[in-house]
Amino acid sequence: MMNIKNIALLSLITLTSFSCTQQNKSAQSSQSETQEPSVFARGKQITNDNFTGNVWLENLIQADSLNQNSVGSVTFEPGARSKWHTHPAGQILLAIDGVGYYQEKGQLKKILHKGDAIKCPANIPHWHGASSDSKFVQVAVTGREKGETIWLEAVTDEEYNF
Ligand code: MN
Repeated sequence: MMNIKNIALLSLITLTSFSCTQQNKSAQSSQSETQEPSVFARGKQITNDNFTGNVWLENLIQADSLNQNSVGSVTFEPGARSKWHTHPAGQILLAIDGVGYYQEKGQLKKILHKGDAIKCPANIPHWHGASSDSKFVQVAVTGREKGETIWLEAVTDEEYNF
């Protein structure tokens, strides 16, 4: 039979192990948000002016004559986004981390979460990037058989926040 002393000891052990578990969880999640690569490496920072904010690219697959898709993992800091642009052979986006936005001209922007897949039709002006308060990581599969991406105007803050 349990006496008061044993019950108090048991409660103390339970409380201690619970608080340890909680601490480990929060330490892990803050580490994965700031340091750990999502699936692929973050790659090199993009230095051209086709993007607003800080964006990194890890090239994964180069197109060749038989398979004319290039594949890259793109990481956007919160608020960062591409300019409006079109792809002559379209593009597929696979959301692998964080929260992102995708918008086609004349449509409302879509919110993308890890696991979402989007097909950007050929020659449709669109942009993609991170949401305002979370980074976003996408794998982009871009058809190259009909030419390179055509870059248009920057996405204004008004468009981004609409
Ligand atoms: Mn695109």
